[in-house]
This record gives sequence, structure tokens and C-alpha cells, in this order.
Amino acid sequence: MNIMPNRMDRGFFKYQKDFEDAALKVLRSGWYVLGNEVSRFEEEFAAYTSAKYCVGLASGLDALWIAVRLLGIGEGDEVIVQGNTYIASVMGISMNGATPIFVEPNEHYEINADMIEEQITERTKAVMVVHLYGMAAEMDKIVDLCKKHDLKLIEDCAQSHGACFNGQMTGTFGDVGCFSFYPSKNLGAFGDAGAIVTNDENLAKKFKVFRNYGSEKRYYNMMVGANSRLDELQAALLRVRLPHMKELTEERIRIAEYYTENISNTLIKLPSVIEGSTCVWHQYVIRCEERDRLMQFMKDRRIGTIIHYPIPPHLSEAYKYLGHSEGYLPVTEKYAKSVLSIPMYNGMTKEEQDYVIGVINDFK
Ligand SMILES: *Cc1c(COP(=O)(O)O)cnc(C)c1O
Repeated sequence: MNIMPNRMDRGFFKYQKDFEDAALKVLRSGWYVLGNEVSRFEEEFAAYTSAKYCVGLASGLDALWIAVRLLGIGEGDEVIVQGNTYIASVMGISMNGATPIFVEPNEHYEINADMIEEQITERTKAVMVVHLYGMAAEMDKIVDLCKKHDLKLIEDCAQSHGACFNGQMTGTFGDVGCFSFYPSKNLGAFGDAGAIVTNDENLAKKFKVFRNYGSEKRYYNMMVGANSRLDELQAALLRVRLPHMKELTEERIRIAEYYTENISNTLIKLPSVIEGSTCVWHQYVIRCEERDRLMQFMKDRRIGTIIHYPIPPHLSEAYKYLGHSEGYLPVTEKYAKSVLSIPMYNGMTKEEQDYVIGVINDFK
């Protein structure tokens, strides 16, 4: 058996006819940018999250940097973010000239809510919460903190479509929820795509203007914007997948539960979910002191795995200018050396799951 870390083809073939019909309809319509499909998707995705408004954008990174910008955050400002995130979260902050301030994760890989307050200064303007690997962070504590210190709250939901904290969907706790629909995400398009959700009508309007060169009416530009539009083809394809999110998420939860019940190897630490939170298992991340040897062991038995992420942003070349060195974030750095994402995707067969479990249990 040969098992890849992710299989996006399975997700396509499951609804092949619907995807192909939707794509053909757009191709034959003669209308490709900002039309009916995008408006309908925005309505449907807002309803899915229970947010009032959704604005389609070109990518998850665009959602993040535009959110930071439209909340008025820039040069001289600080934004708090967890150290163990995908670099896009951090770029969403630094692209605006603001400084990312890193906070360590808790044992569930989410931002350690109890360590946020000590990082707040008079320059702090916002907290960016990343619901990493698909698990909702401790939103009760974080919402309270943001209220107490009058901070904006941005959620990076690129991995958490459908994940909830105390029954409320991620993306709806703060000012803006930022989503990516990159093909490998839980709600994936067939190219780059993203969106924001918000309950603030005025902010939603600003996003709509900003994504289209700062114009509401063609050739009347009210601000310097960007080209960050979700296109009709991606919106139509997303509309095929969106109504199936409940069953697709339940399938991931079943696979995760099966892993948790059956992987038993004292060398391996399994993931656990925060109380009050649900996880949609964008990744199933295990930890092992001898991670690289485990990875090779699995590779030799034809199981592909990925490290999310081998180099934490504060130690990457890109953020050398911040001046942090090894040892600055010990928990983040320990996780970077020991985490491993094992195969997890919709359409994963029981045989594939059993094979992965067997190989991991054989590791000595
Ligand atoms: C994928 C991802 C992004 C960026 O999304 P793109 O659509 O690839 O730009 C941002 N944050 C996190 C946590 C992600 O996983």
C-alpha cells in the first residue's frame, strides 16, 4: 500500500459530476469575475458560519493582510500571534508594517491564552488567533482579554472551517474571520481562493471596495486597493462542496477518533482537544522525540507524512530582522522538532487507516 499525506483527487471524484456541471456552467456563461456565483457563495458561506457578511477574496493570505490593514493597523503597531503558526499568519501582520509579537502554544498547539496578557503593550492593536490544525482556540478567555484591553480580534480560520468553541463557529468571535480555500484546506477550491466573514456591515463594504482596486463603481476609485477577487469558477466549485461540509467534517472526525482509539505506542503523543472546543482535523498531528526517524520509518513503508511546520516563523530567514534567536520560544521550537502530521483526508479508506495505525504501532 502507498499512502499519501493528502488525496485531493478523492474529494473531487466524490462529487465529480456536480463539479463538472458547475464548471461548465460558468465557462459557458461568459461572465468570470464578480458575478452571481460569488454573491451566492458569499451568502451561503456567511450562513454556514452564522456571520452576517462574507466577502470573497483571492486567497487566505489576502484575507489576513487586508483585514489587518482595514482595521487600521500598520507601522509602529504590534499584533499578537502564536509562534507555531504557518508563516502566512505572520506575513498578514508584517506586510502592513506592523510587528508580530509571538506567544507560545499550549499542549493542544493553540495559542496559550494565559500567556497573552504579559505581551500586551501600549502598541498592541490586535490579537490574531490561529485555529491551528482545525481546533478552536480558547475563545472565551481570548474574547475577554480583547475586550478588557480594547484590542481588535482577527481569526485565522484557514484550517478551521466548521470548528466551534462552545457551539459558536470560528471566525465569528472577533472583528474578522479570515478563511483560505486553498485546495488542501477542509473546504478546498481548485486553485487559490479565500474569504472573510464579519458582522460589521461597514467593514464588509470596505473589503468589497478594497478587493476591487478600491472602487465600488467602475473607474471611481475611493482608496488605493488591490486586486483580490474570488473568481466565478472557484465560487461555483466551492458552492458544490459547501453543502457537504457537515458530512465531510464528520468523516474527518471519525478518522481522527479511529486513530486516537487505535494508535498505541509509548513513543508517540496523540493530540487532545481543548474543553469546549471542536476540532475539524485539518491535520492529525502526533508528536515523537525521534520524529525524523519515525518519518523515515513510515516513508520506508510507503506512508507519506508532513511536518507542520519545521521552521517556526521567528527563526525563518524572512523574519531574521525581528532579531529573535533559538531559545526565544522554547515550546514552539520543541514542537517544530517533534510534530508530525499523519495521513488525513476525505475518502481515506479503512484499509488505509488500519495500515497507518499498524505501521505506527510497530515503530520501536
Ligand atoms: C493556508 C493558510 C493560510 C494562507 O492561505 P492561502 O490561501 O494559501 O493564502 C494562512 N494561515 C494558515 C494557518 C494557513 O494554513
